[in-house]
Amino acid sequence: MILLDRVSKIYKRGLRPALDKVSLHIAPREFVIIVGVSGAGKSTLLRLLTREEKPTSGKIVVGGIDYDTLDDRDTPLLRRKIGVVFQDFKLLPNRTVFENVALSLEISGHTNREIKENVPKILELVGLRGKGKSFPRQLSGGEQQRVAIARAMVRQPKILIADEPTGNLDSKNSWEIVRLLTKINKFGTTVVLITHSTEIVNRLNTRVITLDNGKIISDIANGGYRQ
Ligand code: ADP
Repeated sequence: MILLDRVSKIYKRGLRPALDKVSLHIAPREFVIIVGVSGAGKSTLLRLLTREEKPTSGKIVVGGIDYDTLDDRDTPLLRRKIGVVFQDFKLLPNRTVFENVALSLEISGHTNREIKENVPKILELVGLRGKGKSFPRQLSGGEQQRVAIARAMVRQPKILIADEPTGNLDSKNSWEIVRLLTKINKFGTTVVLITHSTEIVNRLNTRVITLDNGKIISDIANGGYRQ
C-alpha cells in the first residue's frame, strides 16, 4: 500500500512546488500508470517514495511504514520493499548479468547458497535463462532492461517502480518490457509505471494518474482503455 496525504515538495531553488498537496492511495497488487509532461513532478514523486528526498509537508506511508517515524538509518530497509528500474538501466558494465543481479542480494546479506538459488530463478522469470555469464554490452537494450528488472525483483519487493523503463527501447522491446511488468504484477507485486508513451497508456487496461504542475489532474480507473 502506498499512501500520500497532501504531500508537497518545494526544492530550495524551486520557483513553484514540484509537488503540490498530492493525495494518493495505491492498493497492494495494483498496476498504476503515472503520466505527465516533463516537469510535472513524476521524478519528484519517485524520489519521495524511495526517500531520496523528503517532503516539505504532508504524510507518506508505504507498506505500513510511516516515513515521519522512519530513522534515516532504516532507509535501506525501505529500499528492500521498493524495487526501482530506470530508463538507462544503470547496470555495472564490468559485471556479468549474474553478478549484477547477485550484488543486490550480497548487499542485503544473503548467503552464497541463497544467491546461487535465487539469481537463476529470477533470470528465468525475466526471460534471460542462459545469459548469466554475459556482460551488459553483449545484450540488446531490451535484455539489459530485463537484467535491471531482475536486479530490482530478486529481493522480492512488494512494490516495483519503473521510471520510463521503455524510454530507450524500440516499440517491440518496449512492449515486451511492459508485458514483463504485467506478469510481475500478476504474481502479486504492486507496479507503478511512469511513462510518456501514449501507446502504452492506450493499450493497457489499467489505472492512469496524470500529474501536471505538481498536481494530480486526473485519476481514472481503466484510464488507458480504448476500444
Ligand atoms: P518530471 O519528472 O515530471 O519531469 P520533476 O519531478 O523532475 O518532473 O520536476 C518537477 C519540478 O521540480 C520542475 O519544475 C523541476 O524543474 C523542479 N525540480 C526537480 N528537481 C529539482 C531540484 N533538485 N532542484 C530544484 N528544482 C527541481
